[in-house]
Amino acid sequence: MTAREIITYLENWAPPGAAWERDNVGLQVGSADRKVNKIFLCLELTENALNSAIANKCNFIFTHHPLIFHPVYKFDTDKNPKAKLIQQILKNDITVYSAHTNLDFTKNGVSFELAKSLSLKNIRFLKNLDNTLSKLTVFVPEEALEKVSGAIFSSGGGVIGEYKKCSYLVNGTGTFEGSDETNPAVGTKGQFEKVPEIRLEVLISNWNLPAAIRSMIKAHPYEEPAFDIYPLKNTNPNFGMGAVGELEKPLTEDEFLNHVCNSLKINNLRYTSGKRKKIKTVAVCGGSCSDLLNEAIGSGADAFVTADIKYHTFQDAENRILFIDAGHYETEILSLNAVKHKLEKFISEKKENIKILKYKGSTNPVKFYNKKGENQIA
Ligand SMILES: [Zn+2]
Repeated sequence: MTAREIITYLENWAPPGAAWERDNVGLQVGSADRKVNKIFLCLELTENALNSAIANKCNFIFTHHPLIFHPVYKFDTDKNPKAKLIQQILKNDITVYSAHTNLDFTKNGVSFELAKSLSLKNIRFLKNLDNTLSKLTVFVPEEALEKVSGAIFSSGGGVIGEYKKCSYLVNGTGTFEGSDETNPAVGTKGQFEKVPEIRLEVLISNWNLPAAIRSMIKAHPYEEPAFDIYPLKNTNPNFGMGAVGELEKPLTEDEFLNHVCNSLKINNLRYTSGKRKKIKTVAVCGGSCSDLLNEAIGSGADAFVTADIKYHTFQDAENRILFIDAGHYETEILSLNAVKHKLEKFISEKKENIKILKYKGSTNPVKFYNKKGENQIA
């Protein structure tokens, strides 16, 4: 199996088009044509993580945080640790691929995994993505309907939540008069024609639109298919930021804080108290999502679990929502389990024998220091 097949599979789940526009997702270093022997997963690639991948003979590395995020202008392997890392990757014939905010924004991605690890039920997006949907409308003769709609569906059109092949059809009449240069599929050139047609409407994410239009035109019997593209104000039901769900049983603030520590296997977290005595509805967002504080409050959540919260943002939340900073690494690392399960399923379906290893060490740069000695500060 090539790296390209693995990437295509991953991108059907977490399309790069869904990523934040300034993100740098996708293939980072190496070839997509490489035949993959063993896969290595880590949240980010450090020197230790790369050494472990090399020692384990893995030649495809998946990372969540992109290897290259800020532009690298000089590949000075003496002075720039990233350049040194890239040199090692190339020298060992490894392909590195990253799925970052596209993995954050997809169903069962980073935030859904965080919600699952906190045993939340009825998990849905906290805030669906804006301005990412279009409506593709095309006018087709009835006999070509199945072929044309099929072409759009297989390019990612017509997916609404758990429903696929969604479309709307209405009968109408198309008119045209072809010039001498034409070769109309229906009717005669030089004659004004009235033809029964179906108006086919399909919702589609913007990143699927170019491919859908190409395959729609290919499947359409007309020389000049008539179609319209409408940008929509609707939010995208299939992609979003953060997640929200409910606990099986309400917990007190203290019980919930302890539940977060146990679920994420952590000893420390930072928080500010909310206004409710019992926690039942919980919003989560893996990584730095304190910008979603108002959405979390607006969703009716009793608690919001995320990371990288600033002092003044804690102030904004105080006595409004139990606001928890459980750590950037800690709220994201569990998503590698979802990547591993997906890939294992794909590999077994393809009857391939490719092992997947998750980095056993930690790439978390943040450490906690506990004061030693007798004179503990109260
Ligand atoms: Zn992150």
